[in-house]
Amino acid sequence: MTTLPDAKLFIDGQLRDAQSGKTFDIISPWTGEPVGKAADATAADVEEAIASARRAFDKTDWSTNIALRVKLVQKLYDLFDANRERLSDLARNEAGAAIGAVGRAHVDMAMDGWKDYIDLFPQVEWQKSYGERAAYGMMHERVAVKEPVGVVGAITPWNVPLYVNVGKVVAALLAGCTVILKPAPNTPGMGSIFGELAAEAGFPAGVLNVVFGEDAALAGEMLVTDPRVDLISFTGSTGVGKRIMEQGAATMKRVFLELGGKSAKIVLEDSENFAMDVATTMLVFHAGQGCAVHSRLLVPRSRYDEAKAILKGAYANFGDNWGDFDNPTQIMGPVISKRQMERVLSYVELGQQEGATLLAGGKARPDKGGGYFIEPTCFVDVDNAMRIAQEEIFGPVLVVIPFEDDDDAVRIANESSYGLSGGVSSGSLDRALAVAKRIRSGSISVNGGMCIAGDLPFGGYKASGIGREWGVEGIEEYLETKLIAWRK
Ligand code: NAD
Repeated sequence: MTTLPDAKLFIDGQLRDAQSGKTFDIISPWTGEPVGKAADATAADVEEAIASARRAFDKTDWSTNIALRVKLVQKLYDLFDANRERLSDLARNEAGAAIGAVGRAHVDMAMDGWKDYIDLFPQVEWQKSYGERAAYGMMHERVAVKEPVGVVGAITPWNVPLYVNVGKVVAALLAGCTVILKPAPNTPGMGSIFGELAAEAGFPAGVLNVVFGEDAALAGEMLVTDPRVDLISFTGSTGVGKRIMEQGAATMKRVFLELGGKSAKIVLEDSENFAMDVATTMLVFHAGQGCAVHSRLLVPRSRYDEAKAILKGAYANFGDNWGDFDNPTQIMGPVISKRQMERVLSYVELGQQEGATLLAGGKARPDKGGGYFIEPTCFVDVDNAMRIAQEEIFGPVLVVIPFEDDDDAVRIANESSYGLSGGVSSGSLDRALAVAKRIRSGSISVNGGMCIAGDLPFGGYKASGIGREWGVEGIEEYLETKLIAWRK
């Protein structure tokens, strides 16, 4: 197992240790052992980062010099591109990504999204004419211009850290904002590399800053409550998202929130690939640690026993082919931390208490190493009112719920506080689309359609968030609209 380079803070153009000199260990989810060290930012470090980002926004031409922004964002992309191996190493060692999951959800997907942002950037409409209109007996010419919001605090989670960091940092920089990136304590290296490579690319001091610390809340709360920060772009749990809205209210913070999910995949009884649609919902990729995963599988009661048999076979077939750090064919590793493992296992216990039946898995697997391994797990005989069907588990745990007809499937899918993604499969595209349109969620896949890509807006309804990341919409989140009118 490799030892990662020290994760340093990046403040006012300097890659450096914390002022206190303190560090904390980066723990490998595979072994439970330290795999690197990270600077432990104090309040003084965060304060400096905020001041620097504010200065860079107010006193340099970053917010107005589009050509410079495009040039440096492209240069930074090229440096990241040349460092794909290091990025993979970080995804594997910090976030616990299995080699087979590194490309899809970590490095390749993030880099493709970055390229999409660069390609889409010319589509941003910086100026829009509203034409002339008479008022008070005179004619008035009206124009709206877009301007960057200002200083952005980008607070990100550990599950797909490169993807989320790129989703925020690149969009905000292109828009003309200055940024303080605050990655999760589990994945500081994937934040630090932004500082290191931004320095190499020649970014002006303060345009991008990176801070992190062992305390999960300290730096984030400072960003949320500081009046010099104009917008908080947050991806993480709904609980912390709510706290950010509350705490941000005092300074009327603009908040952009990408939160949790408990998305439903509905397989209708006339699905042409019923067995495949059911089997591929097995929640194993990156140990189920994705916000947009389909963690509730809804199948018709008339085919419920058949679905159970299909899943039983699929889990048996998947078998023990997971949890090996060096195996390039595997897509599932450990969960992120001891705390997360205990949380997931407590849901497994809860599901049994609630009366659901364990069809597969359910146990920790210490035999796979000193890290945080949980078997691919599936609950059947699940009622949608159970907590295992309502709460985001964020681990390899699928729940399977029967429905009576299309109306019932829609009802169950929507009886959730979340609304991030989902899926519908049917032999009739019209029928699937009709069901899809009734689901209250930010994206929905019909017959396996891929609705997550760097050129598409992604985000949630209800408790899954506010705003859209990726696509032109993802850049526009970081813009303000200024209306100018003059008398003719
Ligand atoms: P988390 O909410 O615990 O932490 C997210 C980030 O917020 C971390 O950087 C953390 O240090 C910081 N933070 C913690 N407390 C804070 C506070 N009081 N104020 C400000 N910042 C604070 O989430 P996590 O456990 O790191 O990630 C998992 C969660 O992220 C899941 O709920 C998952 O669904 C969600 N997620 C959502 C998306 C999406 O796009 N919707 C994508 C990935 C992950």
